[in-house]
Amino acid sequence: EAKTSGRNAVRFFDPAMQAVLVVKMMLESNLRVALALEQFQLYYQIQVDAEGHVVGAEALLRWIHPDRGFISPLEFIPLAEQTGLIIPIGTWVLETACNQLKKWARNPKTAHLSLAVNVSAKQFQQSNFVEVVTEIVRLHNIDPTRLKIELTESTILDNVDATTEKMQQLKKLGIAFSMDDFGTGYSSLAYLQKLPLNQLKIDQSFVRDLSDDESDATIVRAIISLGLNLGLDVIAEGVETVAQRRFLIEHNCLTFQGYLYSKPIPIEGLNALLDGDASEHHFLLTPPDADE
Ligand code: C2E
Ligand code: MG
Ligand code: MG
Ligand code: MG
Repeated sequence: EAKTSGRNAVRFFDPAMQAVLVVKMMLESNLRVALALEQFQLYYQIQVDAEGHVVGAEALLRWIHPDRGFISPLEFIPLAEQTGLIIPIGTWVLETACNQLKKWARNPKTAHLSLAVNVSAKQFQQSNFVEVVTEIVRLHNIDPTRLKIELTESTILDNVDATTEKMQQLKKLGIAFSMDDFGTGYSSLAYLQKLPLNQLKIDQSFVRDLSDDESDATIVRAIISLGLNLGLDVIAEGVETVAQRRFLIEHNCLTFQGYLYSKPIPIEGLNALLDGDASEHHFLLTPPDADE
């Protein structure tokens, strides 16, 4: 036993592992100042209906680090979760998104748009989350029905009773819910029926190989009919090709998000896109058929 723990003790000083720890600690302390120094930015990715009209957008967080440049949320969100920093960061995301909704509300061309915000498990599970959202919505004086919260299956199933309760309170306020990355988790049909959801978002991993992989196509068809039978909207994420869109339309999934329409872009780009003339709308309706 003594020998084993001795080995473990030596392993603790493994330089490679120490380097990983140092990078992590640096990232963490950088994450702390990133908010104060305004290194975070929201990017926006449009959501489009079958006629090619923009119906809303998803807000996606970007960290532009002075030395390291662009850091993916896939890298820093888990760290923010571990350290609890996701709470102030998530609040900033909600405030920035609601501020944008308020601006859109002033313009008849954009007043109908919804904005989806990703909320992670720790953020949703903070005891005063409902109060925080209520206060942000009130302060920005926005129509809460334009705000959509994206939760993953694992966030919801982590503590299904407490989560459902919070979702119901926020739903009463008018806020909509989408289940993100749907199909990758373990939702049972019994839960799905009870949750106050508005939308299922088909995970992009199933959309990707839709045209070549028969089992992915089967899963996508099943998710669409499940969602529609439960009275939910169904949106597909990661739509990159005309063939994928055609398959989705044929199977009654009529809302799309993906590079076929636009990558996530800064607000200036989005506003330019929304301001676009008829020809731009036409582009959205019939993107280049290069992939066919
Ligand atoms: P997600 O919510 O599932 O977001 C979709 C991801 O797919 C985004 O990656 C988006 O850029 C990417 N994507 C969209 N269309 C396509 C496509 O056609 N092809 C491909 N290959 N990818 C596409 P991103 O922005 O890197 O975000 C990754 C994840 O980070 C998000 O996944 C979400 O889970 C998390 N995230 C992003 N912003 C926030 C945030 O503000 N708060 C929290 N808690 N999580 C966030
Ligand atoms: Mg999302
Ligand atoms: Mg997703
Ligand atoms: Mg995802």
